[in-house]
Amino acid sequence: MKLITDKASNGLQSNEFSEFLLTRVPKTEFTAIEANELEETLKAGLHQYPGLGISATQLGIKKRACYIKFGDEETGRELFLLNPVITERSKEGFLFYEGCLSIPKTIEKPLKTIRSCKIKVQTDNLGELEFEINPEGDKVDERVSMETMMTVIVQHEIDHLDGIDHLDGITIKDRIYSTTITKKNNYGRNDKIVMKSPTGELVEVKYKKANDYFLKGYEIV
Ligand SMILES: [Zn+2]
Repeated sequence: MKLITDKASNGLQSNEFSEFLLTRVPKTEFTAIEANELEETLKAGLHQYPGLGISATQLGIKKRACYIKFGDEETGRELFLLNPVITERSKEGFLFYEGCLSIPKTIEKPLKTIRSCKIKVQTDNLGELEFEINPEGDKVDERVSMETMMTVIVQHEIDHLDGIDHLDGITIKDRIYSTTITKKNNYGRNDKIVMKSPTGELVEVKYKKANDYFLKGYEIV
């Protein structure tokens, strides 16, 4: 099984990445046998390329499905989602750092994303599911709680099925969230900051450009 990554071996953008990971995959019908086969394939894929989740598209399969595995044998959670679609998101978001198997450089230098605190997901095999972060749980042991991790991973994998590449910063520009992000006291000119427009839209800009945005009524969040 081959994992699709953003760069071809010559260092250029891979065509497969554009074809499979920058294109939204529509829902399709599955027989029970097809669904089981796909689940086994994704399980094997995640075993071969260890991560917290994998989408069918990352393995070059244009189907709307993903497999998630987080935590250990006893307390962990495994989820196979067939035709998952996010039907509701909270306006509140939170900042998170994520790595992606298909964008290898993010494993060392995780990407900054803004995720919804709570989502509802409709699936063909498990009905409607709800995921919500657990801020109290995140303070225990300095480890991110199961609830928070699942909320993030599910959004990450569904983004793959929706053809969203976080390197484009689409998550920030295209979604309206109000967020609680810690402000730094001193920004360098090239530091990226998140600013909120008067209508609540979030954009990520370099600090040296912040003044232009201030004049349009944006504020640093
Ligand atoms: Zn990924």
